[in-house]
Amino acid sequence: MYFHGTSKINAQGHLEIGGCDVADLAKQFGTPLYIVDEALVRQRAREYVESFRASGLKFQVAYASKAFSVMAMCAIAEQEDLSLDVVSDGELYTALQAGFPAQRIHFHGNNKTPDEINMALDANIGCFVVDNFNELYLLNALAGDKGKKVQVLLRITPGVEAHTHEYISTGQTDSKFGFDLGNGTAYLAIQEAAAQSNIELLGVHSHIGSQIFEVEGFAMAVDKVAGFAVKVREELNITFRVINLGGGIGIRYVEGDTPLPIAQYVKAITDSIINNFTNADYPLPEIWVEPGRSMVGDAGTTLYTVGTSKDIPGVRKYIAVDGGMTDNPRPALYESKYEAVLANRANESVEETVSVAGKCCESGDMLIWDLELPKAKTGDLLAVFCTGAYNYAMASNYNRIRRPAVVFVKDGAADVAVKRESLDDIVGNDVIPARLKQTSAAK
Ligand SMILES: *Cc1c(COP(=O)(O)O)cnc(C)c1O
Repeated sequence: MYFHGTSKINAQGHLEIGGCDVADLAKQFGTPLYIVDEALVRQRAREYVESFRASGLKFQVAYASKAFSVMAMCAIAEQEDLSLDVVSDGELYTALQAGFPAQRIHFHGNNKTPDEINMALDANIGCFVVDNFNELYLLNALAGDKGKKVQVLLRITPGVEAHTHEYISTGQTDSKFGFDLGNGTAYLAIQEAAAQSNIELLGVHSHIGSQIFEVEGFAMAVDKVAGFAVKVREELNITFRVINLGGGIGIRYVEGDTPLPIAQYVKAITDSIINNFTNADYPLPEIWVEPGRSMVGDAGTTLYTVGTSKDIPGVRKYIAVDGGMTDNPRPALYESKYEAVLANRANESVEETVSVAGKCCESGDMLIWDLELPKAKTGDLLAVFCTGAYNYAMASNYNRIRRPAVVFVKDGAADVAVKRESLDDIVGNDVIPARLKQTSAAK
């Protein structure tokens, strides 16, 4: 079994994370429970920041908050000198409520509404990553209405696409995001941005995919972006001060996943930037990145209680837990794979192969197929690893199941970062219209 961060088996044979016995956490906070290894999050943040410092380039590491957007995580990002990406008013509000400095917030998204743009303008955020022409003109107009000039990156589609283990380089990329580099749209967008009086163009942004294990795709993107920068400088006399290379580096979910060490990824892209721009006699730009998954993914563990089981002789044995696709939709959405242990019997040897089902009324509500475990009994605890990114963030109330609590653990302390939803929360926004409120007596 592979243990991430501070996770280990303690003297009781229980899984321990951040110095906390997870059986105690289950008793104290109930299950399902998201457990975040705070030391591991901070370690990842520092790996990014220190690797960039070593490059000598100016930089910003912007945590892509969509991976796990809660106020406690924004507070940690602030303390670790990160910047923050948001993609909606809700993520922006979360960051602002957490006291995150607005100047370090970058606003993403392919369809920002006028209300969202106004909210971000009023908050004086640091940068808008403009995705399309509609947004460019709208942002310019709304900024003008407020007498403001805003800093902007243009999101370009560099024609490099990562399919996790391989890359394709195409002339024209079929994507809903950004200005296409290959067909001249990005060039036109630069000209248009430069012509808007309330826009200050800082440079360009590219994001090629997610859960990426090799440097090649990033290096290809740097080459394309650098080539574009040089052309724009020569022909339009516009110099990019910032190049943003997006997020995307992968993490180890299961055996066989071989992620890039963060330092190696940062060295590869910064070397590539330095080479490309120095060779072109171009002032070295500031480099920004936007890690999401690699910042929080392996720091998260979801703890469940085992309930029922169903053995179909010769076919398969199912065990069911008290959560499922409502707290982790990724297996159902992407066929994502996870590893897990029986957290209260973590030393015991494997006795059988089971498949872990959730409790939703969907056959597709499966968390793990073919997991080797000791014989699990009702009441045992199952810990599923690497659930820090895109789990709580994607959780739903399907079947009116309440979203779990989130606790941050560190050095033996466990603190609630998000409360478990109550049954009152479930009906909190429901209204029965007056005309439906006839009593049975009135019928
Ligand atoms: C999703 C996203 C990220 C973060 O991606 P990870 O794979 O989680 O690192 C960064 N930038 C943009 C624009 C994104 O859409």
